[in-house]
Amino acid sequence: MNTQDFITREALVSPSTYTPLPVVLHEGKGSWLWDIEGNKYLDMMTAYSAVSFGHSHPRLVRALTEQAQKLALTSRAFHTDQLAPFLEMACSLSGFEMAIPMNTGAEGVETAVKVAPRWGYEVKGIPDNQAEIIVAENNFHGRTTTIISFSTEPIYQKDFGPLTPGFKAIPFGNAKALEEAITPNTCAFLVEPIQGEAGIIVPPRGWLKKIREICSKHNVLLILDEVQSGLGRTGKMFAFQHENIMPDGLILGKALGGGLLPVSLFLSRKDILSLMTPGSHGSTFGGNPLACAVGIEAFSLLQEEHLDQRAKELGAYMMSELKKIDSSFIREVRGKGLWIGVDFHKGLINGWEVCERMRFKGALTKDTHETVVRFAPPLTITKEEIDFGLKAFRDTLYEIEQSSGIP
Ligand code: PLP
Repeated sequence: MNTQDFITREALVSPSTYTPLPVVLHEGKGSWLWDIEGNKYLDMMTAYSAVSFGHSHPRLVRALTEQAQKLALTSRAFHTDQLAPFLEMACSLSGFEMAIPMNTGAEGVETAVKVAPRWGYEVKGIPDNQAEIIVAENNFHGRTTTIISFSTEPIYQKDFGPLTPGFKAIPFGNAKALEEAITPNTCAFLVEPIQGEAGIIVPPRGWLKKIREICSKHNVLLILDEVQSGLGRTGKMFAFQHENIMPDGLILGKALGGGLLPVSLFLSRKDILSLMTPGSHGSTFGGNPLACAVGIEAFSLLQEEHLDQRAKELGAYMMSELKKIDSSFIREVRGKGLWIGVDFHKGLINGWEVCERMRFKGALTKDTHETVVRFAPPLTITKEEIDFGLKAFRDTLYEIEQSSGIP
């Protein structure tokens, strides 16, 4: 069985909802991946930022296997000895009081978009079924029907209607637009502190502080989706800490499961989350002991290995090296911590093609929106490994420049 055989077999049984690079991966350890033909690659994308601890981190694998041998799943029909310690840790790290455990990031977002209107009706006094949530243009919060209903990307919505009403999109990073969009029926502003899938878009400095003030002034919940930006990725444990604000709700996912299994959380204050009563929400797998054991270990690792600090220092190094690249293709290099996007001039070069070529130089990553190549390596990556990835990227750009005759 070679690479093409697996790709052909997959195409027969799986609709092409993704456009993966033509590699068939087989093994991962630390920052590295191996394909079935024995080729080795540096992982500079980490499953859209979910493998922050590197592949198969021994402590996470141990937590997973030890818990799997004891107790993996009970549902929330019963209590377990893992849930309280996990949620206590999540609350003490983030500054919140309560959390609802889910599995995927999208489920964490769905939880937030149920909690916010409940608070709107029961506390703010919004008339029944009139609650509105404001979101940002070019957002990415997942793929469920409700979530794509407030996407502004036409291909995410095409043919999936009728869509869920009650959402309004404003330009990202624009505090004035938020204030203008708020009505007496607005229950929440749901936003990514840095937009990931849109192309690693960093908002203007001070914007988080301003939106915090505006939401407080108008009695609107500020809910941050930190599924990608949270847990050290941007150089702080949470991106909201860059401006010392406290949101009213926080969604975490991806790295929370240690790159081993899906674990997500919606965190908030007690006065908000205690409105959720028996029967209002749930998930068979949400908060399962296996997920909690891995989540506890993930939180411990983040703190003990100071991965936020690593992301800050190595991210600054990577950013400065990327900015030194002298290429007429590059329009902008932006990001925070170990989460960086290189934006190319439209029409000159295709991000997918860059990634496709980089794999021959031993580095894997993925474009977003065709013109941006993203870098989100494990937070455990070494400087030498970053240098290897940078060389692969640099050499790829020069190669394309040479073959296209651009001076
Ligand atoms: N929210 C953000 C900010 C994301 O980037 C993603 C996934 O990329 C999600 C939510 C959805 O997470 P999942 O794919 O685990 O459902």
